[in-house]
Amino acid sequence: SRQFTQPLTQLGSMVNLLQSGVASAERVFELLDAEEQTPDAAPAETPPADGPGRLRFEGVSFRYVADRPLIDDLSLTAEPGQTVAIVGPTGAGKSTLVNLIMRFYELDAGRITLDGVDIARMTRHDLRSRTGMVLQDTWLFGGTIRDNIAYGRPDATEEEILAAARATYVDRFVHSLPDGYDTVLDDEASNVSAGEKQLLTIARAFLAEPSVLILDEATSSVDTRTEQLVQKAMSALRADRTSFVIAHRLSTIRDADLILVMESGSIVEQGSHAELLAAGGAYAALYAAQFADAAPEPEAR
Ligand code: ADP
Repeated sequence: SRQFTQPLTQLGSMVNLLQSGVASAERVFELLDAEEQTPDAAPAETPPADGPGRLRFEGVSFRYVADRPLIDDLSLTAEPGQTVAIVGPTGAGKSTLVNLIMRFYELDAGRITLDGVDIARMTRHDLRSRTGMVLQDTWLFGGTIRDNIAYGRPDATEEEILAAARATYVDRFVHSLPDGYDTVLDDEASNVSAGEKQLLTIARAFLAEPSVLILDEATSSVDTRTEQLVQKAMSALRADRTSFVIAHRLSTIRDADLILVMESGSIVEQGSHAELLAAGGAYAALYAAQFADAAPEPEAR
């Protein structure tokens, strides 16, 4: 099964590229399309289309470099509809964890299941239709705003597209554009603001109705008013959907069903906000430090 390591590794670096904002959207789609349809010779398995969205890590180990183990024997369950917040310093392994859910890398041991099916046994199409990702940087392409929203579900009706746009606050700014939903984004989408780009990606994920959602909450170079809209749109998107959130906001962390505190590739603590505060460990220290700084970011950037 080692044969597909190369394209998967490329996809992993793609996420890093996206986060640093240097990958063009075309390149992203090229990489996504280049991946094998089925991961190996074993017959593909498909989870139920309307599955509840239970995601489990079962004894997962992963390393990028042979002699540097990163994630070691990790087990956890995200129950249907739950929000799992991931916190920890830069380099702790937060992005790696969510990249494994997207199958951007091959595991060294263990398995990840979605509604009981090993994601390594799913076709790329099945996995992509069940997982949605909203990263700090966005995957917009040269085309109309309508097509960009509909990307995750090409058969969506106009009504469904508009409903998704309304639920995620996209409708407001699109109305003020002379060509509305027919506005053509250029390759860098430089005709809309950074916050508007984020809202468009959120609308796309909303329309696609994935069973499992992955969010990076960071909002960079976004004004306060737009940031509030982005937060509200992300909450609308998360509602009743199994979500993994790379968390930067106290509100998300406090409300999360499960908080994973990561350090050096390991989950050093897990539990609810109240449980972790009461435990008086790493999370409690992180939380206290945040209040001392009166800063909204738990992560040192
Ligand atoms: P976080 O998202 O918490 O900042 P990451 O998951 O990005 O952490 O990184 C965890 C560790 O893995 C870091 O030490 C990082 O340098 C390393 N790492 C991340 N991506 C790669 C890669 N593509 N190749 C090798 N090492 C990597």
